[in-house]
Amino acid sequence: MPILNRAAELQDEVAEWRRHIHARPELLFAVENTAAFVAEKLKEFGVDEIVTGIGRTGVVGLIKGKGEGSRTVGLRADMDALPLTEITGKPWASKISGKMHACGHDGHTAMLLGAAKYLAETRNFNGNVAVIFQPAEEGGGGGNLMVKDGMMERFGIEEVYGMHNLPGLPVGQFATRKGPIMAATDEFTVTIKGRGGHAAQPHRTIDPIAIGAQIVTNLQMIASRNVDPLRSVVVSVTKFNAGFAHNVIPNDATFAGTIRTLDEEVRAQAEARLREVVAGICAAHAAEADINFHRNYPVTFNHADETEHAVAIASDIAGEANVNPEVDPMMGGEDFSYMLNARPGAFIFIGNGDTAGLHNPAYDFNDEAIAHGISYWVRLAEQRLGA
Ligand SMILES: [Zn+2]
Ligand SMILES: [Zn+2]
Repeated sequence: MPILNRAAELQDEVAEWRRHIHARPELLFAVENTAAFVAEKLKEFGVDEIVTGIGRTGVVGLIKGKGEGSRTVGLRADMDALPLTEITGKPWASKISGKMHACGHDGHTAMLLGAAKYLAETRNFNGNVAVIFQPAEEGGGGGNLMVKDGMMERFGIEEVYGMHNLPGLPVGQFATRKGPIMAATDEFTVTIKGRGGHAAQPHRTIDPIAIGAQIVTNLQMIASRNVDPLRSVVVSVTKFNAGFAHNVIPNDATFAGTIRTLDEEVRAQAEARLREVVAGICAAHAAEADINFHRNYPVTFNHADETEHAVAIASDIAGEANVNPEVDPMMGGEDFSYMLNARPGAFIFIGNGDTAGLHNPAYDFNDEAIAHGISYWVRLAEQRLGA
């Protein structure tokens, strides 16, 4: 079955919603206007139950099917934008300098609204569909907060599905995989505490820059010599700040970065090695260190059965040749991971075509993808809640 006719009919209307949201980007949890727009639309569609303020500014709509069934399937979109200034010059470009929808969450929100409209019209399923609109995907852990607020229990959600657009993947195509699909995104900040002094008398100092440079170099050994080469790890030091004059060795140096991994064992190993390398090199040179290690989003892990359902539905919509069921995982993070840790489900990529990349100021969500995304959501809900 190709794209649903009704989804194709909805395309223009949904594109208008998308552009409305696109022009009014909001960051992290401060998505009040977007959330209000979503809640208003859900009400207009006749969605049975609409709850706002879950995970601070998240919205959940519950749509009841025709049958007597009580199973609930969750479909999730994200609503937040990024702190970038848009350069697309499009008529619907961001009206707010320094904020833009550069990750396509405007498109995700609009497509899920389109699916909600369709499902509320037809109700051709036996059970409930929970449409989930989360804030703060881009760093705030809004998905985590919705789970902590008891969303899964409150709506009886038994399975949960997520979708993200992917530039470079042609429109009309889908890609996913069983197991890890996105990385855990841990962050560290290390301050080396040495002893400053005159640059011409280095023997009287404990030079935090020379020590920090050795640590940065040795952290490369985590990927090259500690972790099994058939498993994945990224250790990137992305900041190094120290000093203020040509002739002064400073007291301190601070560096920071991120560790990306695809399983808990390597995640723990990489953190442990970072701590050992910092402590060992500091001990060798009589320096001390403060390590601030923040365990951020966990691995986004697709459950096997639910991934098979997702692949089957995507193949139904797009044709088998247009679905990659074994895409390589990506080392970016995604806080849908918290929902997948709470309930079985699957995350899928939908083609955004030949556009600028995610988080690029020239990026724009591709409206041509809308009918494909709505069709996927609708068929997935109907299939998982078959009469
Ligand atoms: Zn993003
Ligand atoms: Zn995103």
